[in-house]
Amino acid sequence: MSGITIIMLLPLLVIIIAVPLLVGVYVYRDASSRGMNAVLWTLLAVLAPSLIGFIIYLLVRGSYSNLKCRVCGERLREDYMVCPGCGAKLRPSCPNCSAPVEPDWKLCPRCAAPLPEQQTDIAAPVKKKDRTLPVILAAVILVPLVLILLSVAAFTTESTMSSATALLSVDDYIQETGNTQIREWLSKKKPADNQAAVLRYEIDTDDETVTQYLIYIPSLSESAEYTVESGSGFFGDSIDVDISDKGEGSDALMSISFTSGDAVDISITCEGEKMQCEIEDVKEPLD
Ligand SMILES: [Zn+2]
Ligand SMILES: [Zn+2]
Repeated sequence: MSGITIIMLLPLLVIIIAVPLLVGVYVYRDASSRGMNAVLWTLLAVLAPSLIGFIIYLLVRGSYSNLKCRVCGERLREDYMVCPGCGAKLRPSCPNCSAPVEPDWKLCPRCAAPLPEQQTDIAAPVKKKDRTLPVILAAVILVPLVLILLSVAAFTTESTMSSATALLSVDDYIQETGNTQIREWLSKKKPADNQAAVLRYEIDTDDETVTQYLIYIPSLSESAEYTVESGSGFFGDSIDVDISDKGEGSDALMSISFTSGDAVDISITCEGEKMQCEIEDVKEPLD
């Protein structure tokens, strides 16, 4: 059980530590580059539950500039007239009073001086591309998802057989067991030669389900290989049944029990082919 607990807790730890760390570093750097209050936004993004702070940050930051100088790469703000790094002229201005003007204005609105037709020495700022955000978003979404899937897989794989008893003949089994329900069932049951009859009992406790099976194969074929498979596909488990000390045509009983998060289904194959299996649920334990 401790193995399961650690595997289940690991993704939670990663989500609790790694994702806020990633978001925190990103927000701090991005907010600094936009002249926003980096510490405040980082705290908000990291500490607000369910990444709400990060989402708010992404919405709010749009109104802050992410401009840089076309000439020297210096970070710029929306209201800068010239680049503080290299002095490049960032937007048209009045040649008389230096007030900022729009390119299509004819007169300066502040000093009424006529403006030149076109100002050619303008190095308009460029928008910085944010290549990190898609990576962060992918990580924020994918990391927990992948980890949860892995832990589910790990958890499901843990749900293996907890015990299997050796094959017994019906006569031996009846002698050994004091279970009248099984005795009655065996005395009435006579499945066809190529079929198996199965009793199933399930009990749910708080955090796990125990599934018990009693498998009755009425006529073994000596050279065949029998396998009991549990679960399905990827998460399944299979047990080869050893029939080496049983004679051709003899009957056989085997009990298997599983402990897992959920009820476990089984199928029985003989020489790779699924045997027809008649499963009967009972209300009393099979031991
Ligand atoms: Zn510059
Ligand atoms: Zn002017």
